[in-house]
Amino acid sequence: MAGESEFPVLPCTPVKVEIYDSTLRDGAQGEGISFSLEDKLLIAQKLDEAGIHYIEGGWPNPTNPKDMEFFRRVKTCGLRSARVTAFGSTRRACNRPDNDPILRTLLEADTEVITIFGKSWGLHVTEVLRISPDENLRLIEDSVQFLASEGRRVIFDAEHFFDGYKADSEYALKTLDAAESGGAEIVVLCDTNGGMTPEEIKAACADVRERIGGAFGIHCHNDSGLSSANTLTGVIEGAVQIQGTINGIGERCGNDNFCTTIPNLSLKLGVECMAEGKLKELMTLSRFVSEMANEFHNHRQPYVGESAFAHKGGAHIDGVLKNARTFEHIDPQLVGNQRRLLLSDQAGSATVLAKLESIYPGLDKKDPRVKAVLAELKNKENEGYQYEAAQGSFELLAARIIDDYKPPFTLSGFRVITDVREEGSMVSEATIKLIVDGAEEHTASEGDGPVDALNGALRKALNRFYPGILSVRLEDYKVRVLDSSEGTEAKVRVLIESSDGVDVWGTVGVSENVIDASYIALVDSLSYKLVLDKRKAGNKNE
Ligand SMILES: [Zn+2]
Repeated sequence: MAGESEFPVLPCTPVKVEIYDSTLRDGAQGEGISFSLEDKLLIAQKLDEAGIHYIEGGWPNPTNPKDMEFFRRVKTCGLRSARVTAFGSTRRACNRPDNDPILRTLLEADTEVITIFGKSWGLHVTEVLRISPDENLRLIEDSVQFLASEGRRVIFDAEHFFDGYKADSEYALKTLDAAESGGAEIVVLCDTNGGMTPEEIKAACADVRERIGGAFGIHCHNDSGLSSANTLTGVIEGAVQIQGTINGIGERCGNDNFCTTIPNLSLKLGVECMAEGKLKELMTLSRFVSEMANEFHNHRQPYVGESAFAHKGGAHIDGVLKNARTFEHIDPQLVGNQRRLLLSDQAGSATVLAKLESIYPGLDKKDPRVKAVLAELKNKENEGYQYEAAQGSFELLAARIIDDYKPPFTLSGFRVITDVREEGSMVSEATIKLIVDGAEEHTASEGDGPVDALNGALRKALNRFYPGILSVRLEDYKVRVLDSSEGTEAKVRVLIESSDGVDVWGTVGVSENVIDASYIALVDSLSYKLVLDKRKAGNKNE
């Protein structure tokens, strides 16, 4: 907790902060992000489950019926602890508060809490609003006052506060005074352009702390890559509310990323953010939002990226296996992540052994078979194979050396043809000849493309002998062209992810021909399924 000597905090640093999430509003303004109404409701439910205190639902606006509908529907979602907030601006200068359409629509959203932003930077007051500085102060105060008089809790976002403070600190502070005297529950200092440094944040926050009577929060954008440092600085200087988004989605370079800042606050400063036990669900939340945003989950994200605790260098792996603290700043499980040891040409016997330990308990690092697996691994990697995402193929490679594993069938040949029909559609057909237990099997199958057809024919041929194969689905299929540095024909690497509904595994194939590379990866996928089934049956018999 704050105050204990292990954390370097000041007396003004709060013991805990409120999390104000803007994924559905500022986040949705990020390039390429578009949430449907259903997506927004699902995300709101997940944020509530995670113990987030405030969920900014959007800007209710007669021209944006989706956001208005959100406020109606979210009430039926049974959120347990999060408060949904409606977001909007101060009134237009030409209107009285009680007949201003912006403020009236905010009230119609019918939320307990309303957040309005107002201008704290003279540049915006004179150039954008084109009103006098005093008039701006008046409209901040009476907009807040009107909403408060309607029984709402009001959060005031001081837009461009830090830029305003740099230009004219006294005026920027006056905008906070205006919001406070209007009855704002908290004022939030915004680095709207995201260009501040921690030093600037520190000086301004210290001044605000001295000046205003009430609580303040912080809202940083990441245009200088400093949003987490800036938010942390704000909290160290006394901010009791942090505003940001999951995965840092938002305008331009994004908002402050809660998936970085929340663990930083909790684990590095001892400031309580999420409810007890919720921090370890952070990675799941992060992946969920990526999924909803239809974006790749950034695997290099601090804390919650798949690579955040992935070790590749031989010396790193050796160190981590001896003591995880040698190369990990926190225990990955604290945020719901996990340690991964990557198989690569830099791998040593220790990595190979760590990967095989659960399958072959008692295997020794000095066992010549471990060395042989390592040698084969390096061989294959020279050919273009990569096993980091292909545990299935790696285990088969190891089984051939350690267990004298024999493949479940041999191939006599296959043929794939693709027909372009008159109307322009394409159909592929694959025929395949296999020998299983001395019996020859000859089948054909059609598919949407050559790989699909080949997959169909292969499964059809094996189904009679191995019915378990039917449950295997291809989840993902990736092709990568490898460089042809020596003027030879370029090779391709195919990575397949398969699942039987219980387990998920990756397999890999490399060839100069994409169909052949796909075939190798497909055969590994189905063969690995049989190995898995056999292993499970063996465990049951023990
Ligand atoms: Zn913002």
